[in-house]
Amino acid sequence: MPDFAEIILPLALPKPTYTYMVPEPLRSAVQVGCMVVVPLGARKHYAGIVYRRHDEAPSYPTKPILEVLSEGPVVGLQQLSFWEWLSAYYGCSLGEVMAAALPAQMKLSSETELVRHPAYEGDFSALDADEYLLAKALISRGVVSLAEAQQTLGKKNAVSVVRRLLTKGVLAVRESLREQYRPHKGYDIRLAEPYQSQPEQLDVLAKDLSRYPRQQGALSTYLSLSKSHSYVSKDLLLREANISPATLKVLVAKKVFELVERRQSRVPIYEGEVAPPDALSAEQQRALGEIRGFFKQRKPVLLYGVTGSGKTRVYIELIQQVIRSGGQVLYLLPEIALTAQIIRRLQRVFGQDVAVYHSKISDSQRTEIWHMAAAGCPIFLTARSGIFLPFQNLQLVIVDEEHDPSYKQQDPAPRYHARDSAIYLAGQYRANVLLGTATPSLESWYNAQSGKYGLVPMRERFGKIPMPDVHLVDLRRQHQQRQMYGLFSAPLLEALQQALKRGEQALLFQNRRGYSPILQCRSCGWTAECRHCDVSSTYHKHSDLLHCHYCGYTEKVPSLCPVCRQANLALLGAGTEKVEDEIKIYLPQARVARLDLDTAGSKQRLNDILCAFEERRIDILVGTQMITKGLDFDNVSVVGVLNADAIAHFPDFRASERTFQLLTQVAGRAGRKHKSGTVFVQAWNPTHPVFQEVARGNFETHAQRELLERRQFRYPPFVRLIRIRVRHPEENSARLVAHTAAEHLRQHALAQVVGPAPALISRIGGYFLWEILLKVEKSATALHATKEHLRRLLAQLVNEPGKNKGRLAIDVDPY
Ligand code: ADP
Ligand code: ZN
Ligand code: ZN
Repeated sequence: MPDFAEIILPLALPKPTYTYMVPEPLRSAVQVGCMVVVPLGARKHYAGIVYRRHDEAPSYPTKPILEVLSEGPVVGLQQLSFWEWLSAYYGCSLGEVMAAALPAQMKLSSETELVRHPAYEGDFSALDADEYLLAKALISRGVVSLAEAQQTLGKKNAVSVVRRLLTKGVLAVRESLREQYRPHKGYDIRLAEPYQSQPEQLDVLAKDLSRYPRQQGALSTYLSLSKSHSYVSKDLLLREANISPATLKVLVAKKVFELVERRQSRVPIYEGEVAPPDALSAEQQRALGEIRGFFKQRKPVLLYGVTGSGKTRVYIELIQQVIRSGGQVLYLLPEIALTAQIIRRLQRVFGQDVAVYHSKISDSQRTEIWHMAAAGCPIFLTARSGIFLPFQNLQLVIVDEEHDPSYKQQDPAPRYHARDSAIYLAGQYRANVLLGTATPSLESWYNAQSGKYGLVPMRERFGKIPMPDVHLVDLRRQHQQRQMYGLFSAPLLEALQQALKRGEQALLFQNRRGYSPILQCRSCGWTAECRHCDVSSTYHKHSDLLHCHYCGYTEKVPSLCPVCRQANLALLGAGTEKVEDEIKIYLPQARVARLDLDTAGSKQRLNDILCAFEERRIDILVGTQMITKGLDFDNVSVVGVLNADAIAHFPDFRASERTFQLLTQVAGRAGRKHKSGTVFVQAWNPTHPVFQEVARGNFETHAQRELLERRQFRYPPFVRLIRIRVRHPEENSARLVAHTAAEHLRQHALAQVVGPAPALISRIGGYFLWEILLKVEKSATALHATKEHLRRLLAQLVNEPGKNKGRLAIDVDPY
């Protein structure tokens, strides 16, 4: 009897699965959910997942499965059905879901690049002949693709040899090495005593050192660096003072400097103390009672608790209960809120039961955590991709900061929303769902109002600390009255000065990185734009270049206007770099640091900056929305928002909602532990209703007003949106494909078709972008029919000759 298997391959292929023959010897090993190696095309090999076994021979010749990699299934039936749901709901292939779901080691393909594992000592004695051959080839060549490994071994099944070497820690998959194995640079320099506490003695010291110009130079370099840096790392001093490590050693021996190991926040094994959590407050007790009541009714719960109300403590209580009954918890957080702070808070209670999973951990750790989920480890603190873990006994899903837009995956497909997907996942396991936030998304709020979700409010801060006092500052009036100091209004600057005097800290929020977002010619009006995108380039001072924030292209700043040849170029607007520069001018005594993608590109650097702020080595932290996400500082008394209009006037139906969220969240960082704080929101148009709502801390009024508008103009949560984006290197083709697609949809789809129109940014990275928006009624039939139609349309357009340089992307519930 013929025997076939449908295989999911981790690629964006048009068909959901591919049919392969199951050779006789593999019959019992090929089970649904197993990992197998199959050929694709002339000589490529991929690891795929068995989706189904059957005996219906296809009309074309099939190739055989080459090998079974796993003993038993790696993906369970429940997971497969979750993958199916994701692929159907978000309009992508099963292969795309698989690619997103599995750690890189588990989806090897011919293109996978392999390198020597950095921790491998080079002991070949434990390797068999094939392993030895491959390990040697790798070490001599540095990087080897799986395809090359196949050539080296001269046989088809290099995949299993590679898998063994990965398990033995000889090899690693290249893409996974970015962060984990960065060399530690964990030393800071500090003045030794008595100079640390008695700086007046430095003069004597400087004189003593005058016979050693290099040592004297190092000292003066250190002193000037320490003014502008909250801490001076060893490497920075070596570089800036241009001295050798030997010179530094002498200075340490002379007790001029001392080396301090910087606190490193590495996640893996928690070895700290474990302590029972604080006693619950009455408010927390009440909230817990209500949450449990809704859980009994099998309803997801929206925990709407103002900033500082103590939601985390409520989560901890619920988690403990799950652990006692042997269940598992998925605790989702936005990627950049997954900082050392929240991790420590949970580890202090749960110790090693907490596994942390996000995009910046190494792939070998990712694989390990995958196995931990399968083995029943209790708590997973994860970014959005945690929904893919193979849970055994999931009982509780917590989505903290449920409103956060970064829960939505943008590119590539699957363009899933982790909150919504997690709710579906929880349904499969019959697990409870808790959504927590101080600023609910309108979707969740609406669901809570309509009774689909339970609503549990916590309206007061823990310890009865008053909510921050929010002042709106009218920038126009401040300018007219000459009350502006650079970017800062008099009341904000005054409050910052007072805070510094009292030894308190401040946050300054500017939602734009770089120095200045616009370079303009004052003579003819020309502005600098990226040559690949339809956006203006941002001037960055640290690099002295113009940067494109969409494609990453950089170029030199022209000295003359390229159009009129006049030397009359001006920088307009402000980014975080400029805010940082200016605040140092007005408050020269303050220790200032900046937190944005440029300074905190990696998890480690993000944690370093936050740690320095927490330890009060920084007085004022300037940042983008990174500083708004769930951080708990207890000494921040002033928060300044420099230009609130920039967010509110973004042409998107969510602009008002986003503004409310961002401003309320950043305001919530003010005054947490013992005292209330003050927030200054500077705006050109402070009468905008959303600013008033923020100032009064009135989410409910905001939601009501916003929902009315959404209903009137037919936006979510009243309809479902599907965005179809056409991307093409030629402008005409992009327009043509978009028009053809829109025409088709108008004729057939059960939806209102808006567009086509060029995307807000109509060209990115040399590709022209057009968009069509579908507004679909919220019924399962309308949604299903529309998606079915879209699927056929896509297949048709993609197959049309001449169109295949372009791409169509479907985004269901776009953000
Ligand atoms: P939210 O996440 O709701 O903004 P947090 O959970 O960060 O609020 O709590 C705010 C502050 O109150 C934190 O510093 C936290 O340690 C403290 N806190 C919350 N609940 C308790 C409790 N039951 N006992 C002692 N401190 C608490
Ligand atoms: Zn000009
Ligand atoms: Zn660009």
